[in-house]
Formats: sequence, structure tokens, C-alpha cells
Amino acid sequence: MDYDVIIVGASIAGCTAATAYGRAGLRVALVERQRSPQAHKTLCGHFVLGGAHDVLQRMGFWQPMLAHGAAVTTGLGVWTGSGWVVPGTGSAVPSAISLRRSKLDPLLREIAGATPGVDLLLGHRVVDLVEGPSGAVAGVVVSRGGAERIVLRARLVVAADGHHSTVARLARVAEDSAPNNRFLFWTYYEGATMNGPGDGQVWPLDPDTAVCIRVDDGLTQVGVFPAKDRLPEFTADRAAAFDRFVERLPDGPALTGARRVSNLVGTTDYPCIRRDPTPRAGLALIGDAATASDPVPAVGCGWAFRSAAWLADATAEPLAQGGNLHRALRSYRRAHRFIDKYDALGRQEALAKPPTALQLAVRTAAVSDPDIARRLAMFAMRAADPSVLLNPKVMVRALVGSRMRTPRGRPSGPSRLATG
Ligand SMILES: Cc1cc2nc3c(=O)[nH]c(=O)nc-3n(C[C@H](O)[C@H](O)[C@H](O)COP(=O)(O)OP(=O)(O)OC[C@H]3O[C@@H](n4cnc5c(N)ncnc54)[C@H](O)[C@@H]3O)c2cc1C
Repeated sequence: MDYDVIIVGASIAGCTAATAYGRAGLRVALVERQRSPQAHKTLCGHFVLGGAHDVLQRMGFWQPMLAHGAAVTTGLGVWTGSGWVVPGTGSAVPSAISLRRSKLDPLLREIAGATPGVDLLLGHRVVDLVEGPSGAVAGVVVSRGGAERIVLRARLVVAADGHHSTVARLARVAEDSAPNNRFLFWTYYEGATMNGPGDGQVWPLDPDTAVCIRVDDGLTQVGVFPAKDRLPEFTADRAAAFDRFVERLPDGPALTGARRVSNLVGTTDYPCIRRDPTPRAGLALIGDAATASDPVPAVGCGWAFRSAAWLADATAEPLAQGGNLHRALRSYRRAHRFIDKYDALGRQEALAKPPTALQLAVRTAAVSDPDIARRLAMFAMRAADPSVLLNPKVMVRALVGSRMRTPRGRPSGPSRLATG
């Protein structure tokens, strides 16, 4: 069967791309191994950073997410040893949004499946690729569980099949893996009260991290991201270690009387993986298939929405009109550099090393300097190029500002909390 584009994986990246291509008038096969339209990813904290806000609006996803109960975060308070960085009002930092994947994934699949031109093929697992005479990827071979094999052909195959990408493996795409020296667990509470500023809080405790976020259904999500040297403590008694960690957070959430409504969700090892997003003729990778970053800064869902939209922006027209696909894929590759830059920084952060003097200076200065606080928020929300924060002028200002706050001339930083 022939299509203009075949997308493998009907989750965030795949549904976004399929919806965009369908709206551009293309014939799209959206191939998903899961049989149920309600299937969803469970290992995901689903906090979608503000940098994805414009794409969510443009795709028409924002309002349906709100209608399904999504919680919007307009400003996160960031704890530092020198006080809280309080989000400024009117600072034009785009809002983040959070909808649990049990609601988000079916919603996106429903929107994509209802888009004219999109064939949502549930229960279809890609097991092989079709290659053209020149070696270009020209289609996929799918299985519906039995011995039968179905061949689908298209000018472009899109791998949106997550961090273990079968398509990338079948296409022999090289994988670049880097260690993650933190692990993570989170849970949800009914009736929790936040005590920090903003409508959510982050505690960079160096090397551990913690977050408290509002999610759908009025629930509060509390997550901890300790460095791996604390694994034995969590292995001994995960729930007790989690509670101890949260209890000792400065201005942490009040949980007395709150009801925990889920088990602890998380993982003890999640390396960072990246692959070339345009590795071969006729093939593009989006979402986690291209870049599965450290979960701590909560970038993955945003990257999935944004990379899918960028790919469709670059390629829909040439696919519809028989134009130069190679050039269009190069344009997608260039757009993807935004993610590559942040991923390079994220890989350093994932090593859980002590913060540099500059990092401490930025946080300390941001407590009293609204411009640095805004830049820090834009960076954290992945809402601008990293240079919004990481540039010489801001660094000098941060060093001077932090010295004024700490009389002995040394930026003060938080020391590790909640040990033992
Ligand atoms: C512990 C943890 C916490 C996280 N927390 C956050 C967070 O708070 N915020 C955030 O932004 N990101 C977070 N992420 C990252 C986020 O979950 C991913 O970046 C996001 O799910 C990527 O979406 P995707 O569509 O690329 O891939 P996925 O969501 O992984 O979807 C891949 C799809 O492909 C399908 N598929 C796979 N193989 C085949 C095949 N052979 N044939 C057909 N279909 C196939 C799968 O069934 C699935 O539907 C977290 C990740 C982890 C591990």
C-alpha cells in the first residue's frame, strides 16, 4: 500500500507529525504496535515545558489538553541556598502544562486518527524496512501478530518509535549513549499543599534534585532525583527513603492529611541516547528516537512535540508537491540543532557533578535580579536558545550580583540535604 509518509509510533511525536501531515493534505500511515487506543506510556513525568507552548497552541492541542483537566504552571519557584528565585509576573516566560499520559496519549491519538488522510493502524508492529535500489528507506514491513506480513511504501518513513527505536536499529543508525548518574521516583497526592513560591517548585540540591508540580485532576506530583550514590538507601526501603527525602525539603509540600493516590513510579537507570535525526535518504527520526534526554529537566515530551512539528514544517510541502525531499530533511536537521545544544548541556548535568561557581552564581544572582531570573526561567523552559542565559554578559552580571549577596565574595550554594 502506498502513502506519502509512514510514521512509526503513535505517541507524542508520531501523533503530532501525523496530525500536521494530514492537515497538509498528505496520505499518512500512522503505525502503532499497541492495539488499544487507550495505551499510554507509564514511565513519564509528563511535565511539558513552556518551550512547547507555541507548538501546542499551533497544533490545536493546548485547549483539548485543558479540557481534559491539564494543569498549567505559569512560574516555578527555584530554591537556592540564598533564598527562592521567585517567578516574575509579566516576564513573558511561556507556561508549562501537565496532563498524565493516561489521558494525553489517547487524546493525541484521537486527534491524529480523526484527521483526514491519516490511517491509524493500531496493533501493527514494524518488523522490517523496505529499501529502494539506491539504498534509500522506501517503506516498512509490519506484523499484526500472526505470520502475515504487510508492506507499506512511502517517500518518507518517520521513526517516532521511542528511545529503543526499532526503525533506527533496522536502518543500522548509530546510537550515542551517555551515562545518567541520577535515578528518579515520583508519586501523586490528593490534598497536598505547596509551601514554596510559584505554582510549582524545584529544589536543585546539588547533586540531588526534587520537584513539586500541579497535575490534572487537582493532584500534586512530588518527584525526587537523587544521585546514584543514594541507591542503597532507596533499595533498602524505597517508600521510606522517598518520604525522608521529601520531609527534609526546605519549604517542601505539606503532606500531613494528604492522600497518596499512586505507587512510586520511576527508574534506577536511564542513560541518555541520541541518534542522527536524518541518518539516511527517505528516513527521519523524531522525539525520543532522535534524542532521549535525561528526564530530570523534563524535556522529552517538549522535544517530541517540537521535533515532530519541525519535521512536518520542513517536509510537508515537498512531499505534497514532489519537491526536493533531501533539501527539506537538511532543513529539519538544522532546526533540530536547538535540541542538540540543550542535549549536550543536559548530558553534562546528568553526570550529577558538583555545580560550577558560575552555576551557583547564576542561581544566587537570580534571587534578587529579575532579568537573570527571567533568563534562568527561559532556559529552564527551553523557550529560547541556551545563549539567553549562557552568554558572557549575563555571566559577568551574575558573578557581580552574587558577590553582592554573599559578603565574603563566594557565591553561596545549597549543600546536600536529606541524607541518611
Ligand atoms: C522516568 C521518565 C520521566 C520522564 N518525565 C518527563 C517529563 O516530566 N516531561 C517530559 O517532557 N518528558 C519526560 N520524559 C520523557 C518522555 O517520556 C519522552 O521524551 C516522550 O515520551 C517521547 O515521546 P515519543 O513520542 O518520542 O516516544 P514514546 O512516547 O516512547 O512513543 C513511542 C511509540 O512507538 C511505539 N512503537 C515502538 N516500537 C514500535 C514498532 N516496532 N512498531 C510500531 N510502533 C512502535 C510505542 O508503542 C509508542 O507508542 C520522561 C522519561 C522518563 C523515562
